[in-house]
Amino acid sequence: MKTFDDALTYLLSKAIPTTQTKTIAIESALGHVLAEDITSQQNVPPHHNSMMDGYAVRAEEIQANKTFSISQRIAAGDIGQTLALGTVARIFTGAAMPEGANAVIMQEEATDAEGGGVKFSVDAVLQNQNVRHIGEDIAIGAVILAKGQRLRAQDLGLVASIGIRDVLVYKPLRIATFSTGSELLEPGEAPEQGKIYNANRYMLAGLVPQLGLELIDLGRVPDNLEATVDALKQAASVADMVITTGGVSVGDEDYIKPAVEQVGRLDLWKVKMKPGKPLAYGDVMGKPFIGLPGNPVSAFTTFHLFAKPYLLRMQGQTSVLPTPIWLKAGFDWPKSGFRREFVRVRLESDGQSTQVKLFPNQGSGILTSAVWADGLAVIPEDSTVSQGDLIAYYAF
Ligand code: AMP
Ligand code: MG
Repeated sequence: MKTFDDALTYLLSKAIPTTQTKTIAIESALGHVLAEDITSQQNVPPHHNSMMDGYAVRAEEIQANKTFSISQRIAAGDIGQTLALGTVARIFTGAAMPEGANAVIMQEEATDAEGGGVKFSVDAVLQNQNVRHIGEDIAIGAVILAKGQRLRAQDLGLVASIGIRDVLVYKPLRIATFSTGSELLEPGEAPEQGKIYNANRYMLAGLVPQLGLELIDLGRVPDNLEATVDALKQAASVADMVITTGGVSVGDEDYIKPAVEQVGRLDLWKVKMKPGKPLAYGDVMGKPFIGLPGNPVSAFTTFHLFAKPYLLRMQGQTSVLPTPIWLKAGFDWPKSGFRREFVRVRLESDGQSTQVKLFPNQGSGILTSAVWADGLAVIPEDSTVSQGDLIAYYAF
């Protein structure tokens, strides 16, 4: 048996990041992984500008209740003139500061003076007050995003803010999937004695695209050697990687091992974890292969714990391991086990603190648990947990 950590370390050591890239417009780039550092050729903001609607002033000239004439009006997008001595400029949020001005007084501190002009209720204004400085967000030459970053909404906004339209990303890998099991029916088919509906296929059809990868769904394959070999060959010929569910135990009706061995190479591990102890890793005609367990909960859990970091690394992402959040257990786990348990849990807050609640049935056939839950918590090997103990939580 392999420990969880050994299995994950080994798997990640085998993930070879893709080198295939493409140029893509930022509006289509969400979820793609950057294949280049992005360096700014711009200052952001590109000019000193006002943080408020108000008056651009020379700070040293300001006295309360003195009348100043308004020598110009500068809206966002306008370019003002050098501020005449002894005068102020009406200015609006985001507008460039005129030459000579060094502070902004907000309009709430100003009143119209009789006979024109403006008076302020404040006596002293600090230099730079309410002014945003050139380059204070991004300076010319700064690396704003590093190669290997998966692009999120805020990343796209930042790229746009320096005027860049196209970015170099890694081409999404194509992941071929199929579910094994002669007992499987597809949703929509009439129920049959002895059969169950294929849940894993549809889970993978969600999980794979959620990572920004392209799914090639090859459906279900019955439990026999020939069909399994054929499906593996087809999968490897159309995709960059193959992921299957089921058939990875070593029962007479488990064909993944002999089938993969006909067309490639396979390591079959019993991992010291619960749920999902059988896990298969290898290659099929030179393409990486991961065989997830058949139990839907095991398939879902092992996808998150093993397949996801592996796929993200293959896709060129730099940081692929989730950061645990340490939170108080809202349950007791009185019986220790020799395997590490990944239990389906949900966060609950009482407005003061957050606790991790446990779904009552942790059976590996209970897919309801994964739907109720929002993440996994870890019960370490040979450990018990009492209410209030800190435990590691990973959001799905
Ligand atoms: P296996 O790993 O093939 O022995 O399957 C383990 C358990 O998971 C069995 O009870 C299977 O019927 C069930 N199972 C396997 N594949 C699926 C699937 N795609 N959808 C739902 N249940 C499955
Ligand atoms: Mg099976």
